[in-house]
Amino acid sequence: MAVLTPAARLGVATAVAGALWGAGGLAWRATGSLAPLCFFGYLGTALAPALTYYLGLPSHRRIRGRRVITVALGVGMFAAALARAVFQGSVVAVEGLAFELLAGVAGAAVLHFTIAKLVGPLIFGRVYCGWACWTGMVLDLLPYRTSDGRRGGLWRWLPLLHLAASVALVLILVLGFGYHPGTIGAVVWFLGGSALYYALGVGLAFWLKDNRAFCKYACPAGLLARPAARYSLLKVAGNPIRCNGRAECVAVCPMDIRILDYTLGGMRVLSGDCILCQSCLNVCPEGGLELSLGFDAQPVELLRDHRAN
Ligand code: SF4
Ligand code: SF4
Repeated sequence: MAVLTPAARLGVATAVAGALWGAGGLAWRATGSLAPLCFFGYLGTALAPALTYYLGLPSHRRIRGRRVITVALGVGMFAAALARAVFQGSVVAVEGLAFELLAGVAGAAVLHFTIAKLVGPLIFGRVYCGWACWTGMVLDLLPYRTSDGRRGGLWRWLPLLHLAASVALVLILVLGFGYHPGTIGAVVWFLGGSALYYALGVGLAFWLKDNRAFCKYACPAGLLARPAARYSLLKVAGNPIRCNGRAECVAVCPMDIRILDYTLGGMRVLSGDCILCQSCLNVCPEGGLELSLGFDAQPVELLRDHRAN
């Protein structure tokens, strides 16, 4: 991706900010609620300077530079989820999704998971995990941007165990005790759950020397996003003719994806673990990787094995 001129950057930032403010205004008129105007207005205002900065960086500095965008988006998403808990009693987390499904309610958690994890990834993959998650935002600030590869054995099953434990807890509370979180309960669930995720995420990152260890071995939301992401229209694609075979892309991938093997095999990056962070695009000296739109019927998972190091 080329460095844009200041005028072009300003144009992109103004267009994005205008579109977001416009979407907020339309939603305000349609619903009569100021909440979407505040949310989209914040995103537009925060993203404009972050994008202007990011697009002005040379490619190799964008891997670090993207943090300004992830912080701007992550803070906004966290604030919006907290507001949903305070004003609507909705918990934007896996437990909240289970509470809403059991109650037959399509609240904020159902909306969030549908757009960001279950259906949206069919179009834009796990872009939420790469750019907008408030847990991933903090994890990306830690010192271990790459890892020793993907661990096997019990590690592979931990996200599923976490998901099962979360759902079982909600089932016991609802069916066994008739519990449903009210407004205060929703705030406690949301803040308590977020604190637990942060503690676990930071602890795992330092223990395994891998910023995104939580996303690989613990996050139930990431697990839910994987199936749809495998069929995403938007994916990273490599050009085998331009590829120099030195695998710089593989070395910087925070999710241990064997990008080079996809490229040499004539495939787009079909892994459900790609979070579209674009580190691989930005590090490739040959400009051999790009984002592409298409359909792939056959998902193929190629991950760098921990034992291979
Ligand atoms: S895997 Fe979970 S913690 Fe990681 S970015 Fe995705 S939703 Fe956030
Ligand atoms: S394949 Fe590229 S875009 Fe996907 S997670 Fe790895 S570095 Fe990020």
